[in-house]
Amino acid sequence: MKLKHSLVVPCYNEEGNVEKFFEAAKKAMLGYTDSYEIIFVNDGSRDKTPERLRKIFSENKDVKIKVISFSRNFGKEAAIYAGFTRAAGEYVTVIDADLQQDPVYAVQMGRILDGDPDCDMVAAYQRERKESKLLTFLKKSFYKTVNKVTEVDFISDASDFRTMRRSVVETVLALPEYHRFSKGIFSWVGYNTTAIPYDVKQRESGETKWSLAKLFRYALDGIIAYTDMPLKLPAYSGVFLIILSLLLFFGVLLADIIRPLFDASVGYLACLMLFGFGLTGIFLGILGFYTGKIHTQVKDRPIFIAKEILTYDEED
Ligand code: UDP
Ligand code: MG
Repeated sequence: MKLKHSLVVPCYNEEGNVEKFFEAAKKAMLGYTDSYEIIFVNDGSRDKTPERLRKIFSENKDVKIKVISFSRNFGKEAAIYAGFTRAAGEYVTVIDADLQQDPVYAVQMGRILDGDPDCDMVAAYQRERKESKLLTFLKKSFYKTVNKVTEVDFISDASDFRTMRRSVVETVLALPEYHRFSKGIFSWVGYNTTAIPYDVKQRESGETKWSLAKLFRYALDGIIAYTDMPLKLPAYSGVFLIILSLLLFFGVLLADIIRPLFDASVGYLACLMLFGFGLTGIFLGILGFYTGKIHTQVKDRPIFIAKEILTYDEED
C-alpha cells in the first residue's frame, strides 16, 4: 500500500518523549494528510521506551504505526536505515523523538515537495544552535574541513531532519555500507535539495545521547567514509622529507667543502635518516593509495545514480 508520508523516528531511551511526540505528530499531520504512517525505531532502549511504544501501537489503531525494535543499540544511522526499509510513503521524513524538531516542519517540508516537482529533498538546518560556543565552533570547523577534502558538499548546520521523495529513499537503501554517515550519504546521492531553517526546541525529556567523545568518533567516521586523504598523508610527508634530506645534504656537502675543519659526519647521518624516513613514508603511502581504492570499492556504491530517464519505446 502506498502512502503519502512516512515519519521515521529513531528512539533511544526516549520513554519521556515518545507519547508526546506521537501526539504532536498526529496533530501536525491532521491538516495535511491522513495517508501517513509513523515508524518508530527503538534502537535498543534500556528504559521503558519499548513498553510505551507497544502501548501507543495497541491503543491507536486509527493511526498507521510501525514499531521496529532492535536487539541492542545499533546507533541512529542504523535506525534511519531500518526505518527506510519499512517506509511505504511517497515522502519520508527523518525526525527525532525528543521534540527538538517540531513535526510541524515535516508538514512544511511535505508542502514544499508538493509544490515543486523538481525538488527531491528538503533539509532543515538550525536557525541558531542552542549549544555551547565550543561545540558550535568544533562542528563548524568539521564541516569546513570535510568540505575541503571530500567530493561531496555538506550543508553546514544541516541536520538529518529532512524529508525526501521515494526515489531518494530507494537510492539511500541501495548504499549498504556498514559505517553509515547519513549527512554524507544524503549529499553524496545528489538530487535537488532545498534547505529551510528551523528553530530547535529544548529537549522535552532525558538527555542528549551525544557525548563529546561520541561526536568525535562520529566526525571521524564521517571523514573516513568520505575521503581517503589520511591514507595518502604518509606519501605526501615522505616526499617532503626526501626533499628536505636532499636540501640538507647539499648544505652539509657545501659546508664540508668550504670549511675543511667542519665535522660533517653528523650532518650526513641526519640526511640519511631523513631520507630513510621519507622512503618509509612513500612506501606506506603507496599502500595507502591501494587501500583507499579497496575502501571505495568495498562500499559497493553505484557508479552513477540516474534521476530521470526519457527514452523511446524499446519494444518497437
Ligand atoms: N538516537 C538513536 N540511537 C542512538 C542515539 C540517538 O536512535 O544511539 C535517537 C534519539 O532517540 C533521538 C535522535 O536519535 O530521537 C537524536 O538524538 P539526540 O536527541 O540525543 O541528539 P541531539 O538532538 O542532541 O543531537
Ligand atoms: Mg535531540
